[in-house]
Amino acid sequence: MADATTTEPLLPPTIDNDGAPFWEYAARGELRIQACTACDELRFPPRPCCPHCQSFEAKWQRMSGRGRIWSYVRPHPPLLPAYAAIAPYNAIIVELADAPRIRLVGNLVAAPDAPLDSVAPERLRIGAKVQVAFTDVDGIAMPRWLLERP
Ligand SMILES: [Zn+2]
Repeated sequence: MADATTTEPLLPPTIDNDGAPFWEYAARGELRIQACTACDELRFPPRPCCPHCQSFEAKWQRMSGRGRIWSYVRPHPPLLPAYAAIAPYNAIIVELADAPRIRLVGNLVAAPDAPLDSVAPERLRIGAKVQVAFTDVDGIAMPRWLLERP
């Protein structure tokens, strides 16, 4: 009998037409957020129409990759088998320094390709400054977050 905890992968991101450029830029090591060409408002997650002015014209604005932990959790089972196998780990919400209303969900790690539990729990702190890094996960450049002061 197969062991579900070792055979089930973590869920990959769903990459749709609106979000595809986010992942293409990530593969080049760039964190970019969709912005309205008409009114310059940033929006996330990506979508076809600007919620501020209803324009369908968009561009992808490069971010510094800096932010701060806005909130976090340390998930414990019950979880999907692949997640239960690595729990407890951290999941953080990062508020971007360039765009405080834009928040991304991710993981705080000790190095771009380090495990999701590689930062000691006592280092998790709301307000801690973080920097994005990208790591290849099954062919997808996944944004991860590193403490600015490790
Ligand atoms: Zn707009």
